[in-house]
Amino acid sequence: MNATQSEFSGTYYDGKSANKYPVKLFLTRTQLQLVFSDGRRISWLYPNLKLSRAGSTGPVRLERSTSNPDIIPESVVIEDPKFLHEAHRVAPGALGNIWNQPHKRKMRYGLMILALVIIPPFIFAIWVYAIPAMTNAVADKIPTEWEEKLGQNYFQALFKESLKDPDPKTRKALDAISKRLLTAVPDQPYHFRIYVHPSKMVNAMALPGGTIIVFQGLINVTETPEELAGVLAHEFQHVLKRHSTRGIIRSEAINLFGLIISGNSDSITSVILQAGGILEFLRFSRTLESQADSEGMQMMLAAQVDPRGMVRIFEKLEEAQHRQLESGKKDKKKADSEEKSLEKDSEEDAPDGKRRAGEESRTPEWMKYLSTHPAGEDRVEILKKMAEASTAKPRPLLPDFDWKSMHRETKDSKFIF
Ligand SMILES: [Zn+2]
Repeated sequence: MNATQSEFSGTYYDGKSANKYPVKLFLTRTQLQLVFSDGRRISWLYPNLKLSRAGSTGPVRLERSTSNPDIIPESVVIEDPKFLHEAHRVAPGALGNIWNQPHKRKMRYGLMILALVIIPPFIFAIWVYAIPAMTNAVADKIPTEWEEKLGQNYFQALFKESLKDPDPKTRKALDAISKRLLTAVPDQPYHFRIYVHPSKMVNAMALPGGTIIVFQGLINVTETPEELAGVLAHEFQHVLKRHSTRGIIRSEAINLFGLIISGNSDSITSVILQAGGILEFLRFSRTLESQADSEGMQMMLAAQVDPRGMVRIFEKLEEAQHRQLESGKKDKKKADSEEKSLEKDSEEDAPDGKRRAGEESRTPEWMKYLSTHPAGEDRVEILKKMAEASTAKPRPLLPDFDWKSMHRETKDSKFIF
């Protein structure tokens, strides 16, 4: 497959205020994904979008249709002239026809309206019932060797270029923590292997079959091996409970479904990886997260690892997130009052440098873990109670190891969560 661009920058307008929000845009077969600088994302199905353009080469404006004419629709403006071309390539057929040949629109209205009436309930039913049911049925039955293969494929596709094996000292420390935790589940079938990615992102992820990626940014916020063990115990549970496998199968099913309705035959994995939200499949529901938390804590206790490490790391992540949210709110208030003083019709050209600076200062790196591993408000409280109720006697983990030597310089993240 040719090297392609599927990520674009744009400016989002919410239709309710004059605020401008810089967004990253990702084209997938079936929808346009908008990712805000605070990590929030929304997806727009192409059939719900209206396109307009200033001349034949000017910026492209996409409006999200609304059935109520009194509501100003949400919209996004894209400057990059390559956007339409790429849209036509990624989502050919219906989209290309609408987007590239506006004069044919009228002729297609009848068909489109028919399609809009019939297709959504059908897609909805598949999305809501068929895919989750199939995902669970398949994930519970596939052999662990297949899971390992699946995990390896994703690992190769995502990290082959950027990951080297950690230095022997780090490898030894990671193996020791993992070995200790796994004493809690002696009969489990997976070969766990932990890799460290040099990114500054505060996050970790679990691929099917037992490959775990820990980002250096996360290691840098841990002060003890027990804290890292807390995150690893949680990640191990995503593997042991097959959450990661389910996530990938669901994602493949959705994309396969997208391919069937769009009639394109590119390979499925490359479609997922290209789609921008490449790690979307590892975003789990709160129920699964709570399961990984409580089973992870059980694992810590059974392996005689001090459970306060797990409490502490999630406490830190939550504290940091609150701090970030607070400073984000302040930035937003400041930016709002600045923007209110701007004339509405100068919206397109309004200088927004200050606003952008405010958004960037939120450094969402800190939020990555909690946004991809969301749990209820009382996550820390539940972990604390479990730790306090336990009578397990912890043994020190890596007693003679200088944990701070695990802290390293980091690089900017290139992953989208
Ligand atoms: Zn998680």
